[in-house]
Amino acid sequence: MKYTSFLIKYAEIAIKGKNRYMFEDALVRQIKIALNKCEGKYEISKASGRIYVEYLSDYDFDETVGALTKVFGITGVCPVVHVEDKGFEQLASDVTSFIDEVYPDKNKTFKVNSRRARKNYPLESMEINAKLGEVLLNAFPELSVDVHNPEIMLNVEIREKIYIYSEVIKGPGGMPIGTNGKAMLLLSGGIDSPVAGYMISKRGVRIDAVYFHAPPYTSERAKQKVVDLAKKIAKYTGPIYLHVVNFTDIQLYIYDKCPHDELTIIMRRYMMRIAEHIAKETECLSLITGESIGQVASQTMQSLVATNEVCTLPVFRPLIGFDKQEIIEISEKIDTYETSILPYEDCCTIFVAKHPVTKPNLNIIRRDEGNLSEKIDELYKTAIETKELIIVD
Ligand code: ATP
Ligand code: MG
Repeated sequence: MKYTSFLIKYAEIAIKGKNRYMFEDALVRQIKIALNKCEGKYEISKASGRIYVEYLSDYDFDETVGALTKVFGITGVCPVVHVEDKGFEQLASDVTSFIDEVYPDKNKTFKVNSRRARKNYPLESMEINAKLGEVLLNAFPELSVDVHNPEIMLNVEIREKIYIYSEVIKGPGGMPIGTNGKAMLLLSGGIDSPVAGYMISKRGVRIDAVYFHAPPYTSERAKQKVVDLAKKIAKYTGPIYLHVVNFTDIQLYIYDKCPHDELTIIMRRYMMRIAEHIAKETECLSLITGESIGQVASQTMQSLVATNEVCTLPVFRPLIGFDKQEIIEISEKIDTYETSILPYEDCCTIFVAKHPVTKPNLNIIRRDEGNLSEKIDELYKTAIETKELIIVD
């Protein structure tokens, strides 16, 4: 017996009325984007609050489940066997083989949960439950019934065909991408920013990204690492437009003109300004960073206030209250950790001072930025004009 389709479960709370169609359409669109990268021909159908993916050809089960469990909005993926309706005797035999194959160890509790979506089926759902329950108890004496908390919930749905399923593979939850606008992620090669991007996109937000590099101080390999991280996030989000900004001249100019203990803060303020500029040009409604209070000198409350000041768009920092270990756990779950810890240089660390200010004074920072007035506008303009766009999929 082979799984021929998948029933897609999604949380229905908060998606009543008109929003429901928007949500379901976005979910179907994202499922297609995910499955088109996998083997096999399929058809998607929506029926009474359910989404089915039905395979019309051979496909790779693990690859397909791997893709579906990365689609935000999906809470569960149920592998389904569908059989023709050839009378109850045949159904009883199909259900028996299903349990036999899926559960080699029969020492389990179960419940039959049938649903008669086709009303001309000769038995009512209560009758189907009782009869199939009896058939299974006779076939496998080790099974026992538990109607409240069964280990196996055997679902039988009577439609044109009959759908049999029991397993629910957990999905990522959240909202389908495309239901909540677009945001610009400041993506570095570190552990935090990929996780931050994942968390915001999980709420249905499409993501573009910006990476600041500083050749020759940072290498091609450091840039490739960021592209690789974007690829990992794109498995969840779909294609990401990654803007790569050459930040070298701005960094050198700040290094030349400003007190070294303020370098990081002033540099971060320019990153935010440029990221916001690109965000506005590309219809992003907000910025995302991987900052967390107190993690490093540039993320004390005072430093965050100083970097935030230069932005007019909202800056989302989903990791703000997280400990590093909690962030690492998510990065392991979404498979970015191993890439993030590769030891390539980062443009922030190269120009970092031995003793950076931890409580920057805004008036002083603004005053010292004044030292940049001669050339900074031109450098800023060039940085934006020369940025490279990489479409990551
Ligand atoms: P991460 O692990 O995300 O690199 P971090 O702990 O190294 O974070 P910082 O280097 O202080 O922290 O950077 C804070 C945030 O600023 C990052 O999470 C990221 O959103 C952004 N950022 C830092 N460096 C870059 C860069 N080179 N390009 C794009 N964004 C950056
Ligand atoms: Mg970093």
